[in-house]
Amino acid sequence: MASIPSRLRFFGPHNLEEIPQVSRLSADDLVSMKAVSAVLPFRVNEYVVNHLIDWERVPEDPMFQLTFPQRGMLSKSDHDYMVDLVRSGAPRLELRAAARPIQMRLNPHPAGQLSLNVPMEGGERLPGIQHKYRETVLLFPTPGQTCHSYCSYCFRWAQFVGVEDLKFASKEPQRLAAYIRGKPDVSDVLFTGGDPMVMKTHVLRRYVEPLLDIEHVATIRIGTKSLAYWPHRFVHDDDADDLLRLFEEIRERGKQIALMGHYSHWVELETDVARQAIERVRSAGAVVRTQAPLIRHVNDDPEVWTRMWRTQVRLGAVPYYMFVERDTGPSDYFSVPLAGGLAIYESAYRRVSGLGRTARGPSMSCTPGKILVDGVAEVAGEKVFALKMLQGRDPEWVNRIAFAKYDAEARWIDDLQPAFGASEFFWDADPECSTPLRREPTSKGRIPLKVVGSSDRDDGTTPLRRVGS
Ligand SMILES: *Cc1c(COP(=O)(O)O)cnc(C)c1O
Ligand code: SF4
Repeated sequence: MASIPSRLRFFGPHNLEEIPQVSRLSADDLVSMKAVSAVLPFRVNEYVVNHLIDWERVPEDPMFQLTFPQRGMLSKSDHDYMVDLVRSGAPRLELRAAARPIQMRLNPHPAGQLSLNVPMEGGERLPGIQHKYRETVLLFPTPGQTCHSYCSYCFRWAQFVGVEDLKFASKEPQRLAAYIRGKPDVSDVLFTGGDPMVMKTHVLRRYVEPLLDIEHVATIRIGTKSLAYWPHRFVHDDDADDLLRLFEEIRERGKQIALMGHYSHWVELETDVARQAIERVRSAGAVVRTQAPLIRHVNDDPEVWTRMWRTQVRLGAVPYYMFVERDTGPSDYFSVPLAGGLAIYESAYRRVSGLGRTARGPSMSCTPGKILVDGVAEVAGEKVFALKMLQGRDPEWVNRIAFAKYDAEARWIDDLQPAFGASEFFWDADPECSTPLRREPTSKGRIPLKVVGSSDRDDGTTPLRRVGS
């Protein structure tokens, strides 16, 4: 392959036109992209532009859909309103102000994702930690709260456009480690973001090192899209070798290191540098496990998953999860009904060997837990979804089955009704998960926005529970 620029160069709303390939697009499309990117985050790097997007296939190209603003991401009226503003040459501040109410209508805090499950310490919320499932703690290091490119559907979008601030993240590695030290059931620590791999190795090391002498921590996981969006991180970046050395040290200290690689499409696995990255990471003793949400216009095709899982297995990576796109941001444009997602999963699952069937899905990360849509069945004359709880707020729920009435259009757990005349799902008995959380459809089927502003959640006294969905 021709020489690949290994220096990270970003494009965003302000230098969109500096992307040479963008000149192929019509003036209308360009204005539209500017309008959408005033509302939703947009950032893409040169590697993605030059090596992952097939510009001959734009706009349908899946990587273009994944990273560039699309007009369908806003409602027609919001889109046209923003387009008019852009056309009139409105200054940046005015665009920002106009964007805010649109952003607030896009459910910026799904399932209370940032405010639930944050542990308390001495009457104060401990930022930078989410501890929902007994065995696994999520860590959000402050310097890891951005990404090498932004996925257009991403549910973390609120923090990228400043609707959500970073108060939930932590600058204090020692404090995070102290919490984990006090929780002997925790075997896994999962670094997440944003993307923790945007951190320099020496910064990541500050967060990792204090964990290495905690006996009960068995595995350090890093959730990352960098293997796809910026594989140079592991091959050519200045501190790539230091990073591999850190992985080796983790192994030498008797712990496992797993990269939870976010791969949306097999295209991301085709470049030489993407393959070198996996090879190098594996030779440093890390396991690569792979996961991604199912996204309309990007990977809503069983062929894509089949080839992706096959390629991953061939490269020594382990398929892990297929997620359901959550109910936030531009989800109308990107979401796939549960029934359709299940059909895609099953079709791909049937076409890979057992080594590719380690991928579980489609799985929803919702308030009660991770809920798998395990299949469609007909029981006693009623067509139902068999649901299975893979992870639960209550550890006793794990692996329990529930049945929901089949609904070809349902897209999320709160679109589902219990089957067989039951009045609730088993998790509904938990006050944190009960019916008030269920979505009450408005005329548009959108979630009524109950909570706004980050100020509500920063006082440390009333962690908001029933947010969004
Ligand atoms: C998915 C998830 C985890 C990790 O779950 P595994 O099934 O162990 O991969 C941990 N915490 C939260 C909040 C999660 O959503
Ligand atoms: S890499 Fe992950 S956190 Fe970053 S934009 Fe994509 S989905 Fe969101």
